[in-house]
Amino acid sequence: MLASVQISGRSFSATLPLAVACLAVGVMPGHAAEYLSGIAWPEPPIVTPGATDRDPPSDAVVLFGGEDAAAWKGGDQWTVDNGELVVGRGMIETQQAFGDCQLHIEWSAPTPAKGTGQQRGNSGVFFGPYEIQVLDCFENTTYFDGQAAAIYKQQPPLVNAMRRPGEWNSYDIIWRSPRFAADGSLTSPAAVTVLHNGVLVQNHFELLGDTPYNRAPRYEPHPEKLPIRLQDHGNPVRFRNVWVREIGSIVGRRVHEPALRNGKTVTPLTAKAEK
Ligand code: MG
Repeated sequence: MLASVQISGRSFSATLPLAVACLAVGVMPGHAAEYLSGIAWPEPPIVTPGATDRDPPSDAVVLFGGEDAAAWKGGDQWTVDNGELVVGRGMIETQQAFGDCQLHIEWSAPTPAKGTGQQRGNSGVFFGPYEIQVLDCFENTTYFDGQAAAIYKQQPPLVNAMRRPGEWNSYDIIWRSPRFAADGSLTSPAAVTVLHNGVLVQNHFELLGDTPYNRAPRYEPHPEKLPIRLQDHGNPVRFRNVWVREIGSIVGRRVHEPALRNGKTVTPLTAKAEK
Protein backbone atom coordinates (compact mmCIF):
# COMPACT_ATOMS: atom_id res chain seq x y z
CA MET A 1 0.00 0.00 0.00
CA LEU A 2 1.41 3.35 -0.98
CA ALA A 3 0.04 6.54 0.45
CA SER A 4 1.00 9.88 1.78
CA VAL A 5 0.49 10.57 5.43
CA GLN A 6 0.92 13.54 7.68
CA ILE A 7 1.32 13.07 11.38
CA SER A 8 2.27 15.70 13.95
CA GLY A 9 3.15 18.12 11.25
CA ARG A 10 5.57 15.73 9.54
CA SER A 11 4.79 14.74 5.98
CA PHE A 12 6.00 11.59 4.25
CA SER A 13 6.68 10.96 0.62
CA ALA A 14 3.83 9.58 -1.42
CA THR A 15 6.08 6.72 -2.45
CA LEU A 16 6.81 5.63 1.13
CA PRO A 17 4.78 2.57 2.17
CA LEU A 18 2.15 3.61 4.66
CA ALA A 19 3.03 0.93 7.20
CA VAL A 20 6.66 2.00 7.17
CA ALA A 21 5.65 5.59 7.62
CA CYS A 22 3.49 4.68 10.59
CA LEU A 23 6.22 2.60 12.18
CA ALA A 24 8.49 5.59 11.89
CA VAL A 25 6.33 7.52 14.36
CA GLY A 26 4.95 4.56 16.31
CA VAL A 27 1.24 5.06 15.65
CA MET A 28 -1.37 3.85 13.23
CA PRO A 29 -3.21 6.42 11.15
CA GLY A 30 -6.58 7.35 12.58
CA HIS A 31 -5.88 5.65 15.91
CA ALA A 32 -4.75 7.48 19.00
CA ALA A 33 -3.79 4.28 20.81
CA GLU A 34 -2.80 0.72 20.05
CA TYR A 35 -4.77 -2.23 21.40
CA LEU A 36 -2.59 -4.79 23.13
CA SER A 37 -4.12 -8.23 23.59
CA GLY A 38 -1.75 -9.11 26.43
CA ILE A 39 -1.10 -12.53 24.90
CA ALA A 40 2.44 -13.58 23.96
CA TRP A 41 2.29 -15.85 20.92
CA PRO A 42 4.93 -18.36 19.82
CA GLU A 43 6.22 -17.75 16.34
CA PRO A 44 4.25 -19.86 13.82
CA PRO A 45 6.49 -22.56 12.35
CA ILE A 46 7.69 -22.04 8.81
CA VAL A 47 6.15 -24.40 6.23
CA THR A 48 7.42 -24.29 2.68
CA PRO A 49 4.48 -24.59 0.29
CA GLY A 50 4.55 -26.94 -2.67
CA ALA A 51 5.37 -25.69 -6.16
CA THR A 52 1.61 -25.43 -6.69
CA ASP A 53 -1.25 -25.63 -4.21
CA ARG A 54 -1.82 -29.28 -5.14
CA ASP A 55 1.76 -30.25 -4.27
CA PRO A 56 2.56 -31.34 -0.71
CA PRO A 57 3.94 -28.66 1.62
CA SER A 58 7.14 -29.38 3.51
CA ASP A 59 5.36 -30.73 6.60
CA ALA A 60 2.98 -33.07 4.74
CA VAL A 61 2.97 -36.85 5.00
CA VAL A 62 2.69 -38.23 1.47
CA LEU A 63 0.24 -41.12 1.49
CA PHE A 64 0.45 -41.84 -2.22
CA GLY A 65 2.93 -40.14 -4.50
CA GLY A 66 2.56 -42.42 -7.53
CA GLU A 67 5.14 -45.11 -6.78
CA ASP A 68 3.67 -47.56 -4.31
CA ALA A 69 0.93 -48.04 -1.75
CA ALA A 70 3.29 -48.77 1.15
CA ALA A 71 1.60 -46.15 3.35
CA TRP A 72 -1.58 -48.26 3.28
CA LYS A 73 -2.50 -51.48 5.00
CA GLY A 74 -4.07 -53.63 2.31
CA GLY A 75 -2.52 -51.52 -0.41
CA ASP A 76 -1.03 -54.64 -1.98
CA GLN A 77 -4.60 -55.68 -2.85
CA TRP A 78 -5.02 -52.55 -4.97
CA THR A 79 -3.18 -51.74 -8.21
CA VAL A 80 -0.64 -49.04 -8.93
CA ASP A 81 -1.06 -48.20 -12.61
CA ASN A 82 0.52 -45.27 -14.43
CA GLY A 83 1.27 -43.55 -11.12
CA GLU A 84 -2.33 -43.97 -9.99
CA LEU A 85 -3.79 -46.10 -7.22
CA VAL A 86 -6.76 -48.12 -8.51
CA VAL A 87 -9.38 -49.59 -6.18
CA GLY A 88 -8.89 -53.32 -5.78
CA ARG A 89 -10.05 -55.83 -3.20
CA GLY A 90 -11.06 -54.54 0.22
CA MET A 91 -10.86 -51.28 2.05
CA ILE A 92 -7.38 -49.91 2.65
CA GLU A 93 -6.25 -47.80 5.59
CA THR A 94 -3.21 -45.73 6.41
CA GLN A 95 -0.46 -47.33 8.45
CA GLN A 96 -0.32 -44.13 10.46
CA ALA A 97 -3.23 -42.78 12.47
CA PHE A 98 -4.33 -39.17 12.16
CA GLY A 99 -6.46 -36.83 14.24
CA ASP A 100 -7.12 -33.25 13.23
CA CYS A 101 -5.68 -32.92 9.75
CA GLN A 102 -5.74 -31.40 6.27
CA LEU A 103 -6.06 -34.01 3.53
CA HIS A 104 -5.51 -33.48 -0.18
CA ILE A 105 -6.66 -36.31 -2.45
CA GLU A 106 -7.34 -36.52 -6.16
CA TRP A 107 -9.64 -39.09 -7.73
CA SER A 108 -11.02 -40.00 -11.10
CA ALA A 109 -14.22 -41.89 -11.81
CA PRO A 110 -14.05 -44.86 -14.18
CA THR A 111 -14.53 -44.17 -17.87
CA PRO A 112 -16.62 -45.09 -19.70
CA ALA A 113 -19.12 -44.63 -16.88
CA LYS A 114 -20.95 -47.79 -15.84
CA GLY A 115 -24.01 -48.19 -13.66
CA THR A 116 -26.33 -45.62 -12.17
CA GLY A 117 -26.88 -43.98 -8.81
CA GLN A 118 -24.70 -45.43 -6.06
CA GLN A 119 -23.27 -48.03 -8.44
CA ARG A 120 -21.35 -45.52 -10.58
CA GLY A 121 -17.81 -44.75 -9.49
CA ASN A 122 -18.46 -45.30 -5.78
CA SER A 123 -15.64 -45.17 -3.24
CA GLY A 124 -15.16 -43.06 -0.15
CA VAL A 125 -12.68 -41.22 2.04
CA PHE A 126 -13.10 -42.29 5.65
CA PHE A 127 -11.69 -40.72 8.78
CA GLY A 128 -12.17 -43.71 11.06
CA PRO A 129 -15.90 -44.54 10.75
CA TYR A 130 -16.88 -41.25 9.10
CA GLU A 131 -17.28 -41.19 5.29
CA ILE A 132 -16.97 -38.38 2.81
CA GLN A 133 -18.55 -39.87 -0.28
CA VAL A 134 -16.67 -40.46 -3.51
CA LEU A 135 -19.10 -41.05 -6.37
CA ASP A 136 -19.39 -40.24 -10.06
CA CYS A 137 -22.08 -37.56 -9.86
CA PHE A 138 -21.55 -36.12 -13.32
CA GLU A 139 -25.01 -36.34 -14.87
CA ASN A 140 -25.78 -39.14 -12.43
CA THR A 141 -28.35 -38.44 -9.75
CA THR A 142 -28.71 -40.31 -6.48
CA TYR A 143 -30.00 -39.41 -3.03
CA PHE A 144 -28.44 -36.06 -2.27
CA ASP A 145 -26.89 -36.98 1.06
CA GLY A 146 -25.15 -39.82 -0.77
CA GLN A 147 -23.67 -37.93 -3.72
CA ALA A 148 -20.04 -36.91 -4.15
CA ALA A 149 -18.68 -34.86 -1.23
CA ALA A 150 -21.70 -35.68 0.94
CA ILE A 151 -21.18 -36.68 4.53
CA TYR A 152 -22.80 -40.00 3.84
CA LYS A 153 -26.47 -40.10 4.94
CA GLN A 154 -26.06 -36.86 6.89
CA GLN A 155 -25.37 -33.83 4.74
CA PRO A 156 -25.35 -33.19 0.96
CA PRO A 157 -22.65 -30.98 -0.51
CA LEU A 158 -23.61 -27.32 -0.85
CA VAL A 159 -23.18 -27.62 -4.63
CA ASN A 160 -22.27 -30.30 -7.16
CA ALA A 161 -18.76 -29.42 -8.41
CA MET A 162 -18.17 -32.73 -10.19
CA ARG A 163 -15.97 -33.14 -13.24
CA ARG A 164 -16.86 -35.69 -15.90
CA PRO A 165 -15.58 -39.30 -15.74
CA GLY A 166 -11.93 -39.67 -16.65
CA GLU A 167 -11.12 -36.13 -15.49
CA TRP A 168 -9.49 -35.57 -12.12
CA ASN A 169 -11.37 -34.32 -9.11
CA SER A 170 -9.73 -33.06 -5.95
CA TYR A 171 -10.88 -32.95 -2.35
CA ASP A 172 -9.22 -30.68 0.15
CA ILE A 173 -10.59 -31.71 3.50
CA ILE A 174 -10.13 -30.04 6.87
CA TRP A 175 -10.97 -32.63 9.47
CA ARG A 176 -11.49 -32.17 13.17
CA SER A 177 -11.80 -35.35 15.19
CA PRO A 178 -14.51 -35.77 17.78
CA ARG A 179 -13.46 -35.62 21.41
CA PHE A 180 -14.65 -37.92 24.15
CA ALA A 181 -14.48 -37.62 27.93
CA ALA A 182 -12.91 -40.34 30.06
CA ASP A 183 -16.38 -41.82 30.65
CA GLY A 184 -16.88 -42.13 26.88
CA SER A 185 -19.36 -39.27 26.53
CA LEU A 186 -18.99 -36.94 23.57
CA THR A 187 -17.43 -33.60 24.45
CA SER A 188 -17.23 -32.16 20.92
CA PRO A 189 -18.46 -33.64 17.64
CA ALA A 190 -16.36 -34.25 14.55
CA ALA A 191 -16.40 -31.33 12.12
CA VAL A 192 -15.42 -31.15 8.49
CA THR A 193 -14.82 -28.57 5.79
CA VAL A 194 -14.44 -29.81 2.20
CA LEU A 195 -13.45 -28.14 -1.04
CA HIS A 196 -14.30 -30.14 -4.17
CA ASN A 197 -12.22 -28.95 -7.11
CA GLY A 198 -11.55 -25.76 -5.15
CA VAL A 199 -15.26 -25.17 -4.50
CA LEU A 200 -16.49 -25.10 -0.91
CA VAL A 201 -19.00 -27.94 -0.47
CA GLN A 202 -18.95 -28.60 3.30
CA ASN A 203 -18.61 -25.64 5.61
CA HIS A 204 -17.53 -26.84 9.04
CA PHE A 205 -20.33 -29.40 9.21
CA GLU A 206 -20.62 -31.01 12.63
CA LEU A 207 -21.24 -34.72 12.24
CA LEU A 208 -24.09 -36.47 14.00
CA GLY A 209 -22.02 -39.62 14.42
CA ASP A 210 -20.70 -42.31 12.12
CA THR A 211 -22.03 -42.83 8.59
CA PRO A 212 -23.47 -46.32 8.06
CA TYR A 213 -25.98 -47.25 5.36
CA ASN A 214 -28.39 -49.17 7.53
CA ARG A 215 -28.91 -47.29 10.78
CA ALA A 216 -28.89 -43.83 12.32
CA PRO A 217 -25.57 -42.14 13.00
CA ARG A 218 -24.12 -42.48 16.47
CA TYR A 219 -20.87 -41.84 18.27
CA GLU A 220 -18.85 -44.60 19.87
CA PRO A 221 -15.79 -43.41 21.81
CA HIS A 222 -12.49 -43.93 20.04
CA PRO A 223 -8.92 -42.59 20.13
CA GLU A 224 -8.39 -39.07 18.82
CA LYS A 225 -6.22 -40.47 16.02
CA LEU A 226 -7.48 -43.16 13.65
CA PRO A 227 -6.40 -44.38 10.21
CA ILE A 228 -7.69 -42.68 7.09
CA ARG A 229 -9.41 -45.25 4.89
CA LEU A 230 -10.37 -45.58 1.23
CA GLN A 231 -13.38 -47.67 0.27
CA ASP A 232 -13.72 -50.59 -2.11
CA HIS A 233 -17.27 -50.37 -3.43
CA GLY A 234 -16.56 -52.58 -6.44
CA ASN A 235 -15.76 -49.74 -8.85
CA PRO A 236 -12.22 -49.09 -10.20
CA VAL A 237 -11.94 -45.47 -9.00
CA ARG A 238 -8.43 -44.05 -9.38
CA PHE A 239 -6.56 -41.98 -6.80
CA ARG A 240 -3.39 -39.93 -7.03
CA ASN A 241 -1.47 -37.24 -5.18
CA VAL A 242 -2.63 -38.02 -1.66
CA TRP A 243 -1.06 -36.14 1.21
CA VAL A 244 -2.00 -35.09 4.69
CA ARG A 245 -0.88 -32.52 7.22
CA GLU A 246 -1.49 -32.97 10.91
CA ILE A 247 -3.07 -29.87 12.40
CA GLY A 248 -1.82 -28.71 15.76
CA SER A 249 -2.82 -25.64 17.65
CA ILE A 250 -0.97 -22.47 18.42
CA VAL A 251 -1.26 -21.53 22.05
CA GLY A 252 -0.50 -18.13 23.47
CA ARG A 253 0.39 -17.18 27.03
CA ARG A 254 -1.30 -14.30 28.76
CA VAL A 255 1.32 -11.92 30.06
CA HIS A 256 -0.95 -9.03 30.99
CA GLU A 257 -4.54 -7.89 30.79
CA PRO A 258 -5.77 -6.36 27.54
CA ALA A 259 -4.63 -2.76 27.38
CA LEU A 260 -4.32 0.35 25.27
CA ARG A 261 -0.92 1.86 24.61
CA ASN A 262 -0.70 5.54 23.89
CA GLY A 263 2.87 6.58 23.47
CA LYS A 264 4.64 5.24 26.55
CA THR A 265 1.44 5.00 28.57
CA VAL A 266 -0.18 1.58 28.85
CA THR A 267 -3.71 1.54 30.30
CA PRO A 268 -5.24 -1.82 31.27
CA LEU A 269 -8.76 -2.07 29.89
CA THR A 270 -9.99 -3.69 33.09
CA ALA A 271 -8.59 -0.95 35.34
CA LYS A 272 -11.11 1.25 37.08
CA ALA A 273 -10.63 4.97 36.66
CA GLU A 274 -9.22 6.49 39.87
CA LYS A 275 -9.65 10.06 40.98
MG1 MG B 1 -18.90 -44.69 -0.78
